[in-house]
Amino acid sequence: MPKIGKSWNWLPPLPIRSAPIFVWPIRVFDAAKFLFSGPFLGSTILPYLILSAIAWYWLQPELTRCVEFEIGWISQLLFRNALLILIVAGGLHLYLHVFTLQGTGRRFESRELQRNNPRFFMRDQVKDNMYWTMTSGVVVWTLYEVMFFWAMANDYLPYYLEWRNHPVSFVLIFLFIPFFTSVHFHLVHRLLHWKPLFRIAHSVHHRNVVLGPWSGFSMHPIEHLLYMSSVLIHIILPSHPLHILFHNQWNSIGAAVTHSGYEALTIHGKPFMYLTAFHHQLHHRYIKCNYGNPLVALDKWFGCENNGLKEANK
Ligand SMILES: [Zn+2]
Ligand SMILES: [Zn+2]
Repeated sequence: MPKIGKSWNWLPPLPIRSAPIFVWPIRVFDAAKFLFSGPFLGSTILPYLILSAIAWYWLQPELTRCVEFEIGWISQLLFRNALLILIVAGGLHLYLHVFTLQGTGRRFESRELQRNNPRFFMRDQVKDNMYWTMTSGVVVWTLYEVMFFWAMANDYLPYYLEWRNHPVSFVLIFLFIPFFTSVHFHLVHRLLHWKPLFRIAHSVHHRNVVLGPWSGFSMHPIEHLLYMSSVLIHIILPSHPLHILFHNQWNSIGAAVTHSGYEALTIHGKPFMYLTAFHHQLHHRYIKCNYGNPLVALDKWFGCENNGLKEANK
């Protein structure tokens, strides 16, 4: 059992290991096992698949309404997205940080979310984080969806993937999205650490050292635009609207979930849904490491990985 480093309340088994997908030599059995595992299928795919299906079947304007830019269907998307992230980030915040219904089990930091700190808007971390999430975050997220659904309604996109005709591709695209966004996130994130961009934009996200669900999507508008731009892959990748919703929700709601500050939601101490990767928690503390996530080991390949071993040895 590793010793707990200063101010860490809890550490996962270290060193952090990357997903056994893009590894050499190829490990077919480990890769298949990972794709059906709790951290991937149960926590990265299924929750967002369910959410995006709810959004598509019950909360989505008919595509025929999206031919012209009109306030009605655009505000429906805006309101829906605001509601979804309010429920998920707000719910997790209340459950984990206000009513502390899980106690400190699997919580990385021992410090509390910051109050009375001039670094934050209104001197309050949660208010600051909610402000950036619910204004710029929801607007940019919706903007990308507006562009896609308008383009789809007008047949401007070269492809529309009908799941009845291409069931295998339809499923594979959901599995592809988290790996693709992992690479995109690493590259965009390194760009955001370029000094001028960091100062203007990314420093807003890095106000957060102790993490809570509202921290994840708390970003400057420039960062929102760059970070969410991974969805543009669907211009050339044959897709169904459900893929667009899933992709955007993984980037937005997923960011809230993966900054919860807790490794997992647990029942009787056993994890049933994984939330925050320690890999990114380390990025918020040390800044110059771990620009991506452990799905694709770009940090390792580029030599900027902190695998947590130092934390274990402190
Ligand atoms: Zn972050
Ligand atoms: Zn960063």
